[in-house]
Amino acid sequence: MPSSTSIIEKAERLGAHNYRPKAVVIERAEGCMVYDPEGRCYYDMLSAYSALNFGHRHPEIVQAAVEQLGKVTLTSRAFHNVVLGDFYEKLCGLTGKQMILPMNTGAEAVETALKTARRWGAFVKGIEDGKQEIITCAGNFHGRTISIVSFSTDPDSRSGFAPYTPGFGTVPYGDADALEAAITKDTVAFLVEPIQGEAGIIIPPVGYLTKVRKICTKHNVLMVADEVQTGFARTGRMFACEHEGVQPDIYVLGKALGGGVMPISAVAADRDVLDVFTPGSHGSTFGGNPLACAAAIKAMELLLRDDYPRMAEEKGAYILERLCEIKNDDIFEVRGRGLLIGMEFKKPAADYMKKLVSNGVLAKETHENIIRFAPPIVITKDEMDDALERVQTALA
Ligand SMILES: *Cc1c(COP(=O)(O)O)cnc(C)c1O
Repeated sequence: MPSSTSIIEKAERLGAHNYRPKAVVIERAEGCMVYDPEGRCYYDMLSAYSALNFGHRHPEIVQAAVEQLGKVTLTSRAFHNVVLGDFYEKLCGLTGKQMILPMNTGAEAVETALKTARRWGAFVKGIEDGKQEIITCAGNFHGRTISIVSFSTDPDSRSGFAPYTPGFGTVPYGDADALEAAITKDTVAFLVEPIQGEAGIIIPPVGYLTKVRKICTKHNVLMVADEVQTGFARTGRMFACEHEGVQPDIYVLGKALGGGVMPISAVAADRDVLDVFTPGSHGSTFGGNPLACAAAIKAMELLLRDDYPRMAEEKGAYILERLCEIKNDDIFEVRGRGLLIGMEFKKPAADYMKKLVSNGVLAKETHENIIRFAPPIVITKDEMDDALERVQTALA
């Protein structure tokens, strides 16, 4: 086995530098633990940005994938496969929606939602094609495609990628009045994260989602909830919109949907919205492939059978409480919902990050001064206590 140093050297030499990874090489992983080639072990407190809600290599999800590997992995959508219908049925059940459109990555699902909204605007709402407007939020993160970065407010995500896709507006996050004021006769959708993850675990004011829902209904504008990061139990509810009992018109889903094993994403909506697609109008070669569907079906079964939302809520409350007890004058605030927790510092957190890693805790800062703690939802009480002790040592 080459050393971590030589592995990192090769990756830095040959790979584009669109990420700045921590100097930790993960060779294998199980549950919420990861191991490097030298045999050091770490708690995974990032969970691949919430794609690992079930932990690494959940045995039942791996088994479902292995069984599917022995049958068929890819059919394309030129033909039917045995598992896709069951995948639709399970995801319709979880979301309460009538229809699903499967893709692979979160960004593709966001793009799909944008196309859905524009077509719905032209075909159903009766807006002249080319005039459709979609409102987004300051501080958003929805992925990396040209159109998506066109409405990012983060200079790092945008600069040098012009010309930008037109048809998008921006309002402050958490401000329902600003949304209502920004709506015009050509507005087709409002795209919103129920909690802004990448922006630093920004939880909107109580009542925001309820007001957004009312405003969207009143003006016949689609409410599109990007739950790629917050979905599938992460925040202590199956979907974060449920904290306010709100049903968006469109769910955008990804990350944990594939059980941490396969990339799979989806848009879920009712028939009157998603039926704007006709053969040839949208698609993806790998979208809805049987291998990813098999992993997702098992993942969705586990969410319900083992009550992941309750697990995330209880464990999240415990971790939040323990993190709040840490005495360190550099900490500005600790906040979170379920197991999506952010610790904001008054200054850049890089030094603390290094201390966390050397104490065996893998986390990552978002922006310079916020550390996200989002362990796999399967983390046990003993693991939480051990990890929290390490965090305490690193930060106190
Ligand atoms: C990660 C993320 C995306 C993009 O997902 P990818 O699979 O990386 O394309 C979109 N929206 C939100 C809220 C995310 O956290």
